[in-house]
Amino acid sequence: MIREFHRPRDLGTALDALADAGDEGKVISGGTALVLMIEQGLVAPSVLISLDRVQDPMFSGVELAGRTLRIGGGETLSAVASHPLVRDVVPGLAEACRRVGNVRIRNRATLAGNLAESDYASDPPSVLVAHRATCRVLASGGERMVPVERLITGFYENALDEGEIIAEIHVPVPETGTRSTYVKYISRSSEDRPCVGVAVCLQTMGGTVADIRVVVGAVTGTPQIFPEVLAEATGKAATPSTWKDVAARYADLIQPLDDARGSAWYRTRLIDIMIRRALSQAAEQDTR
Ligand SMILES: Cc1cc2nc3c(=O)[nH]c(=O)nc-3n(C[C@H](O)[C@H](O)[C@H](O)COP(=O)(O)OP(=O)(O)OC[C@H]3O[C@@H](n4cnc5c(N)ncnc54)[C@H](O)[C@@H]3O)c2cc1C
Repeated sequence: MIREFHRPRDLGTALDALADAGDEGKVISGGTALVLMIEQGLVAPSVLISLDRVQDPMFSGVELAGRTLRIGGGETLSAVASHPLVRDVVPGLAEACRRVGNVRIRNRATLAGNLAESDYASDPPSVLVAHRATCRVLASGGERMVPVERLITGFYENALDEGEIIAEIHVPVPETGTRSTYVKYISRSSEDRPCVGVAVCLQTMGGTVADIRVVVGAVTGTPQIFPEVLAEATGKAATPSTWKDVAARYADLIQPLDDARGSAWYRTRLIDIMIRRALSQAAEQDTR
């Protein structure tokens, strides 16, 4: 049963309340995941600290700070999807946020809440891993930077300690000639979570691959990336034959799960198809 509900206006007060509550406390942002978890009896916090009225500049807004795109953790998925800077600098992230659930969810759900939920069938995390994004995580005693690649550690598990809040997400501004894309395959209703999601960050130079990041989400507990496969593709011609090789290697290496959205066999086929599609789409995109 909830016995205390806090609605602080700054992160410092929120962090103090969270520290005081210990293992009985939880922060709530949009509530789109947490309320369901409480209703299903999966978690039972007795102290809720709502972040929806926090007005710290760090927790809101989207801006360029040098070569970094800074996104406040409290920004909703709708705000991220429609922000001109996100659409220009990391179009794959705008697309991933635009494809989440439905408009009611996107208008409430926050980017930090999506990462902290750490559900394997989520859209934004793969793009953030592809773009080497980092979270600025605060606690009442200090702060640390956590790469999104190391934040999600398993099914609904992450590297956040009790008492920590994701305040910002930092995305490095891609080099000139970089494309960013996200493709989502849904097997049930149009508003569903992904069966397979593929994020690509691709830089080409003179028709060859200069840098390539391919991340597959929703198929295991954590977003999947294989640096050795990507290293082999680097320096090769930016052509469908290279995309075919990358896709085949990923399909071979990933051991997907079976769930209501698709069997492991079905997902393996889709990983191959969707990676080829995502890379072809990225290669055809205009660069910044
Ligand atoms: C019908 C439906 C469809 C959906 N479809 C999709 C989909 O297609 N793709 C997809 O990716 N997701 C989907 N989702 C999930 C949704 O995107 C997430 O539920 C949402 O992003 C979570 O954000 P929130 O702000 O609502 O988090 P909350 O529900 O408020 O919190 C979620 C968790 O994160 C913690 N938390 C919240 N904010 C912070 C913070 N700043 N720092 C640290 N911890 C924090 C909370 O304590 C809680 O444990 C769907 C959800 C629903 C209900």
